Amino acid sequence: MGATRPHVLVVGAGFGGLSATRALAGLPVDVTVVDRNNYHGFWPLLYQVATAGLSADDIAHSVRSIVRDERNVQVRMAAVESIDLDARHVELDDGHRLAYDYLVLAAGTVPADFGVPGVADYAFTLKTLPAAVRLRDHVLRQFERAARDPSLVDQGALTVVIAGGGPTGVELAGAFVELFHVVLAKDYAGVGLGRARVVLVEMGDHLLPGFSVASQQEARHVLESRGAGVRVGTAVGSITADGVHLTDGGFIPSATAVWVAGVRANPIADALGVEQGRGGQVTVAPDLSLPGHPEVFVIGDLAGFVGKDGKPLPQVAQVAIQGGRRAAKNIAARLRGRPTRAFHYKDKGIMATIGRRSAVAELPLGLRFDGTLGWLAWLVLHLLYLVGVHNRVSVLTSWAWNYVTWDRSNRIIIGLDEEEGKPDG
Ligand SMILES: Cc1cc2nc3c(=O)[nH]c(=O)nc-3n(C[C@H](O)[C@H](O)[C@H](O)COP(=O)(O)OP(=O)(O)OC[C@H]3O[C@@H](n4cnc5c(N)ncnc54)[C@H](O)[C@@H]3O)c2cc1C
Repeated sequence: MGATRPHVLVVGAGFGGLSATRALAGLPVDVTVVDRNNYHGFWPLLYQVATAGLSADDIAHSVRSIVRDERNVQVRMAAVESIDLDARHVELDDGHRLAYDYLVLAAGTVPADFGVPGVADYAFTLKTLPAAVRLRDHVLRQFERAARDPSLVDQGALTVVIAGGGPTGVELAGAFVELFHVVLAKDYAGVGLGRARVVLVEMGDHLLPGFSVASQQEARHVLESRGAGVRVGTAVGSITADGVHLTDGGFIPSATAVWVAGVRANPIADALGVEQGRGGQVTVAPDLSLPGHPEVFVIGDLAGFVGKDGKPLPQVAQVAIQGGRRAAKNIAARLRGRPTRAFHYKDKGIMATIGRRSAVAELPLGLRFDGTLGWLAWLVLHLLYLVGVHNRVSVLTSWAWNYVTWDRSNRIIIGLDEEEGKPDG
């Protein structure tokens, strides 16, 4: 690497960081991408890991292998602990310090419990691969417990309560219902699986906020017709070791509460001492730079960016991918002494799968698909965006197998949840 070239440090190898890194690869800069993990995670399929449809390796790809052909890119596996904007360096958890000329911050979000009692102690979340495997382990353990003592079913051993009726909550609920009533029903005959329940709780009046009314109704109808309970207009008030208390006074005995009701900015944003908006997102200038620090760009879920309609951009993969490209182009512009350009998000639509042969997809130009067509659109797009040929082949093979055999092969307990009832991550 040339010693005199500007050093661009990219924090996070998620959708935003990876997109920025790829776009920076052809520029006269040296790039270091730092991530706490050695892989890029494809979070839209995380719920399938939690519900035994896919294995963890199917949806993750080694960062080093993704960028190995880029001669100006280095990878560092470490967690960034703090950032000194004035001195222009970051401190890593391995005790090292990395200086930069340009910084791209793409560290994403973490689950937010909004102060609801018991979430931190008793609820599972779904933001990381270990969290997904832990949830799968835990649920499968409950079936083993119920097989030993079927009376536990009445105490909620086989009841999963999901807090948050957005796409992740809907996808999880649909997948758990299929896992319970189609797959595990064959493994645990005689356990009383008719009493296994999946309940989705949404504080607002409709599932899938942000989708059209038709999609919201479709999601509810499909989930209920497949056996899931849907509670809208009530929130999770607290979670205890025994179950979930709702704000309408109801109580659902449950051994498994899953909290997918909200996220907030990665805590590294809090220590920057800059303006933060909703959910701790870092307020950025129109060109995605940090006000007062033209050498720093913040992208993806971490960035608080207001779109053309005056609303904050959604926290979705396309915003991060497009933002990564814009940040790289703006760094290129700065290198050439040219003005940077504002970020314009091109909306490519939203979609959520509800279960086998059922999804809703709302695409640009008013195109809307549901049912089998929506599901096929969902499958194809997710396969296209998955990184790595091996991952694509593996996911496609698993999906084909699951579809044809009505099976979900990854229902092994690998032991991440040895202290039962103590979720972590
Ligand atoms: C379960 C789930 C389902 C989703 N489904 C969809 C969907 O269907 N469609 C869609 O468009 N979006 C979906 N999203 C949202 C989408 O994944 C995010 O909008 C997108 O990942 C944001 O990209 P990002 O680069 O900002 O953050 P991320 O992709 O989350 O990447 C952040 C990276 O930073 C790393 N990191 C974090 N902290 C540190 C640190 N201190 N030091 C070093 N590295 C660090 C992380 O390991 C991670 O690799 C989903 C998200 C989740 C969690």
